Formats: sequence, structure tokens, C-alpha cells
Amino acid sequence: MRQTFKIAVFGGDGIGPEIMAPTVRLLQDLARESETLAFQFHEVAAGAAHYRETGESLPEASLDTARKADAILLSAMGLPAVRYPDGTEISPQIELRMKLGLYAGVRPVFVQPGQDVPLKSSRVTDIDFVIIRESTEGLFASHGKGVVEDDKEARETLVITRAISEKLFDFAFRLARQRQQSGRGQGLVHCVDKANVFQAFAFFRKIFFERAKAYPEIKAETAYVDATALWMVQKPWMFDVLVTENMFGDILSDLGAGLMGSLGLAPSADIGDHHAVFQPCHGSAPDIAGKGIANPMAMILSAAMMLEWLGHEHRNTEAIAMGDALRTAVSDVLVEGRMLTADLGGSARTDAVAGAIAAAYKMRVPA
Ligand code: NAD
Repeated sequence: MRQTFKIAVFGGDGIGPEIMAPTVRLLQDLARESETLAFQFHEVAAGAAHYRETGESLPEASLDTARKADAILLSAMGLPAVRYPDGTEISPQIELRMKLGLYAGVRPVFVQPGQDVPLKSSRVTDIDFVIIRESTEGLFASHGKGVVEDDKEARETLVITRAISEKLFDFAFRLARQRQQSGRGQGLVHCVDKANVFQAFAFFRKIFFERAKAYPEIKAETAYVDATALWMVQKPWMFDVLVTENMFGDILSDLGAGLMGSLGLAPSADIGDHHAVFQPCHGSAPDIAGKGIANPMAMILSAAMMLEWLGHEHRNTEAIAMGDALRTAVSDVLVEGRMLTADLGGSARTDAVAGAIAAAYKMRVPA
């Protein structure tokens, strides 16, 4: 009996549809060979181009499809020239996080042998950590609510709640435990904050240590966000799981993507109690949109995270194995180094890279 997973698909803007199409094709291929799972893909409208055409950025019908789906696959959204009357950009991905309660933004950072990265150290392949970015409150709680008074003063308010922080820290400690058990992590969580200056972060840190007591086998440490930025460049192999506020996580996850050599390699997941969105960390890259040269790896790695998450949620071991094999197939193509897009120093086109990943997958998991 095959388990059918309903997947809501947001194609997005700019390079969004260009990297989503081969990813969905790849997932369809994988499911065709599977004995235990199938996918039903539901394409839904949202984003800057949709707003320009209809005046709506995230239609209620799209939100409804997302709510009913088992998982949501989302490509990059937003175009710099398309804005709301208040001057801010169209960003349905942020609205989705808020509306679906996706408090845990999971941003893995890892370097594989053969990968061309900016850090020149013999230890680069020891880089393997995960940033958990709180994704529903922090400074982003002010999204759409900021004020500018008389063109003289502007204000945005940062919010930290006990309810979300407790769930966030539990998520981080559970992930550290899972990584330790799989032999991948050191059993260590850093709470990244600015508790030396702000009350809200002292409160955040206090809750972190309260929750840490429930996970005595995991080391709980703290780091200020400015020092964290320094150490992420000087000795990033020291980290295992980092958990932080929304805005800090937004910035540090791009630094993490930089460590990997390209934003085109950085996947992510936004996970809540009932829903989960999987999307690349990068934006819609308008500078290369329409040329067929975008790197699809971050999107495909996000799909691999989705497979693993679905597998754990629905006790489908084949989905977990497929996610793992898909991630390894991306590594194989990276290490082999012949089929890479321009952001990684190659000249391959998006579809050719996706094809190479599909072929590498078939080598690993013959039908
Ligand atoms: P960006 O991530 O789109 O691009 C930054 C640089 O990285 C560009 O040079 C781009 O060509 C390159 N790049 C990004 N993804 C790539 C890929 N897959 N392959 C090859 N190169 C890639 O950031 P930006 O230019 O600051 O933002 C563009 C738009 O995207 C804006 O409208 C912004 O608001 C939006 N945005 C959306 C998200 C999201 O959907 N989660 C995230 C960030 C930015």
C-alpha cells in the first residue's frame, strides 16, 4: 500500500520556477520507483508577480491548499521593484511562517570534500552545523507594523515570548540529540543572543537554560551574536546546533551559506507543530532570472529535507532513505565537479545539473 503525500508547490518569482520545475520532476521520478510512497503536487499562486497581476500576494485559496498539504515546497519569492504602498517588498514566505506557526527555521551548513569554499583551512570539511532561526517573532514580529513619525523617527518592536521560545529550544535540543545519535554532532547547543545589552535577550537566555535541564546529555552554551559572526569565520567547526532570534538567524544563515561557497547550495526548512515549508535560503536572483543558469542544488537539497521530515512524521523509512540518497547525489555531483553552475565556477545549465543529480541518485539507488 503506497502512502500518498500531498505537496503544495509555490513556484515563486525570478529563478523560482526555473529551479522548482526540475525539482518536482526529480521527485516524480523518485516516487515512480518507490514501493511505499507517491506524491500529489498542487501548484499554488503567490508572490510578487502574482501581486503585480492581481493585487494579492498570498491568496486565501493558496493558503488553504498549503494548510491541507502534508508538506509545502516553496521556491524563492519577491522582486525588488514590486512593493506594497508602504515601500516594503512582497514576501509571502514570511506571511506563511506567521500564519502556519513555523517557529523553527532550520538552516544546515556543511562543507563536503572537493567543494570550493572561501575559507582556506585544512579543517573546512569539519564544518557541519545547523542554525535554528526562530521564524515567527523576534524583530520580524514587527513585519508590517513599523511606524515612521513625521519623517523624524522610526520604530520597530522586537518580541520574544515564553511559549514560542520553549518550543524553539526543545526543537534545538532534540535536533542536537538526533545528530549526536546519528554520529554527526557533538551534542552541543549554543544560544546566540545579545543578552549583555537587551532585556528581551536576557529573558530568551533564561528560558534556554530552563529548557536545557530536560536534556542533561546535551551541552548548553551561550554566545553573543557579534562573537558568533567572528567564530563562524575563524573556527566554524566548533559549532553543532545554534539557536537564535529571527533577525540574527536571518543574517547568520547567509553567513553560513557564504561558508558553503554559494547561496545556491543552502537549503532550509521552516517547521511548526502542524506544518512545514521547505525552501532554498536564497532569493529570486533577478540578475540571472530567465537565463536557465540558476543553481538548483539548494532547492533539491530542500526537497531532500522534506523527504526526511515526511519520513519521520509518517514513519516512512523509505522516504528518509530517499532524502538521504538525494543529498548524497548532490554531494556526488559537487565533488565530481564537472556539472556545476556559474555560481560554483562552472558553466552548466540548471536542467543539466538537475539531470546529473538524477543520474547520481540512480547510481546510488538502482531501480
Ligand atoms: P538573492 O539571494 O536573490 O541573490 C543574491 C546573489 O546570489 C545574486 O547575485 C544571485 O544571482 C545569487 N544567487 C542566488 N541564488 C542563486 C542560485 N540558485 N544560483 C545561482 N546564483 C544565485 O538575493 P537578493 O538579490 O538580495 O534578493 C532578490 C529578491 O529575492 C528580492 O526581492 C528579495 O526580497 C528576495 N528574497 C527572497 C527570499 C525568499 O524567498 N526566501 C530570500 C531572500 C531574498
